[in-house]
Amino acid sequence: MDQNRLLMDGTKIQYHLEALAKWKRGETVYPILVEISPTNGCNHGCTFCAYDYINRDNTFLDADRLMAVLDELRELGTKSLFYSGEGEPLLHKQLTEIIGHAAGLGFSQGLNTNGTALLGETMTSIVPHMSFIRCSINGATAEEYAETHRTKPKQFDDVLRNLEAAVAFREREGLETTIGVQMVYLGQKVEDIVAMGRRIKSLGLNYFSVKQFNEHPRNPFKTDFDRLTDDNIGPITALSDDGFLATVRTGLQSGLEKRTYKRCLALPFFAEIVANGEVYACGPHLGEPDYCYGSIHDMTFTQMWDPANRAKVTNYIDGVDDLDCECMPNCRLDALNRFLWELENPPAHVNFI
Ligand code: SF4
Repeated sequence: MDQNRLLMDGTKIQYHLEALAKWKRGETVYPILVEISPTNGCNHGCTFCAYDYINRDNTFLDADRLMAVLDELRELGTKSLFYSGEGEPLLHKQLTEIIGHAAGLGFSQGLNTNGTALLGETMTSIVPHMSFIRCSINGATAEEYAETHRTKPKQFDDVLRNLEAAVAFREREGLETTIGVQMVYLGQKVEDIVAMGRRIKSLGLNYFSVKQFNEHPRNPFKTDFDRLTDDNIGPITALSDDGFLATVRTGLQSGLEKRTYKRCLALPFFAEIVANGEVYACGPHLGEPDYCYGSIHDMTFTQMWDPANRAKVTNYIDGVDDLDCECMPNCRLDALNRFLWELENPPAHVNFI
């Protein structure tokens, strides 16, 4: 499969020229993508989880309030919703209702899940509405998986079976949902990763992506293995063909490089709603008051996005001297920031296109 068809690193902002032009003119733009964290609870306990610092008190986002906010967001021009965040989204009992409601409003939707609850009616009511489903499997063998996810080895096969059933359902229904697996590289043996990729491919999934681990400043989990090199990336990506993408996210591979931009410009295009209703500027800073615009329980989204309401957060972030010290490497908005920085700081002779 063409890597560019499933662009996992990089930005797609160039496909939203109207919003970009508005931003360039200094007008208010509303988030194109909103990430939603339906719950901060999780049935797994991944050793490296970036959100381990968050108090996991099993809070569930109020579905009625969220659906009212989705009505508003659609009017404001938001295009896509990504269910992910602090916990396992599928643990929210009303998630299928929320997703159905959002589908009726015309949102593009994506889901990040550990796949354990992608079963039965939950699966059949979610898959038709998803642009993509990404399942996190952070071990190349059942034992490794159990150790990293802090669960039983049996769940490794259970999740793969769930994914196989989701693919079969997609095929039966003639749906186009992209279903893939992402594995964070935590020093697994390359031959095991390749065997895992082969298995995923044989199940009919669309892709297998290996993502380099990026340290989060507030997460004590540290690694002591070398990053994947070109030599061991080759056997993994060699699994790719016309119908399957096997990739090592090289954008994230270079995560040790310094940022090319001095200010975070991407925030007007993104928002993250977490389980308690608070809205944050970006994922790596969830729970930090300096990055919180307020709560959907206290105001409408329009009020929340008023520049005067966001000023406290934007002023704080604009005042950060060194984003590399403040922020984790390769945050989700990194590529967008690189693009916007270039746009704001053009090279000489731009008319020579
Ligand atoms: S650079 Fe990334 S992590 Fe830092 S504030 Fe911007 S979006 Fe958030």
